[in-house]
Amino acid sequence: MKPSPLLIGAHMSIAGGVALAIDRALSVDATAMQIFVKSNMQWFAAAPFTEAELKAFHEHPRRGELRSVFAHSGYMINLAAINPEFAEKSRRALKDELIRADQLRLPFLVLHPGAHMGAGEAEGLAKIVAGLDAVLETLPDVKTRVALETTAGQGSSLGHTFEQLATIFEKSAHPDRLCVCVDTAHLFAAGYDLSTEEGTATTFERFEQILGLERLVAVHCNDSKSGLNSHVDRHEHLGRGKIGLAPFRFLMRESRFATIPKVLETPKGKELAEDRENLAILRKLAVKS
Ligand SMILES: [Zn+2]
Ligand SMILES: [Zn+2]
Repeated sequence: MKPSPLLIGAHMSIAGGVALAIDRALSVDATAMQIFVKSNMQWFAAAPFTEAELKAFHEHPRRGELRSVFAHSGYMINLAAINPEFAEKSRRALKDELIRADQLRLPFLVLHPGAHMGAGEAEGLAKIVAGLDAVLETLPDVKTRVALETTAGQGSSLGHTFEQLATIFEKSAHPDRLCVCVDTAHLFAAGYDLSTEEGTATTFERFEQILGLERLVAVHCNDSKSGLNSHVDRHEHLGRGKIGLAPFRFLMRESRFATIPKVLETPKGKELAEDRENLAILRKLAVKS
């Protein structure tokens, strides 16, 4: 089947090797893909990528059919951790993942900014900035940027308002090496009402005013099992959750988002049938009737 000209896809497993993720993405006719750069269950990769693994990825005969491939970092990383050992481990893990993402020549690595663990917003944001600065300073040649993801604000998680992300950019010594990934389910749970096209338009206007649209590099397209302002992070299939299809219709039809990869992080089985269904919904929404 001919790949869709739309820039859409899903998070794909790297089980068996990173090159296999390409086959998985192409099997659902994706043109974009997000991957982890190591097992998500561990702090650190068991071993660095071998030349053979990197070659299999870069020289995959159909690699070019995926026009956007980017990475998501491990969930254990918390740059705002108050336990010094945990904070140090988080920095090392982020560094390790940035090196791996760079070896795969991926443009950015999505990161949940961090959770302040009771220290408060200001102190948490300061720790995140310090962590990012420290990691980026040790990697002057790494081209992969860090894409800060908007979060649902569950627990003490930061990054649930555009203002918090703007503070990180303002205070960072390397703002040019940072960018932003928005997640529709997280935005909704954080209190941004995407359940109507007007609400979605208003949300992206606010994004533009506070952060600037040039910083937006990816959108995670997820419906939400949890309600508006619930601060609970639960992804649902498109159109089957509390948000509905409005934000996806908006994003698929606005030409200024045409070059932004839109990637699913919705539940799925081994056969990826759910991905095919959700991507079919996105393709359908892109057609103006
Ligand atoms: Zn995420
Ligand atoms: Zn996400």
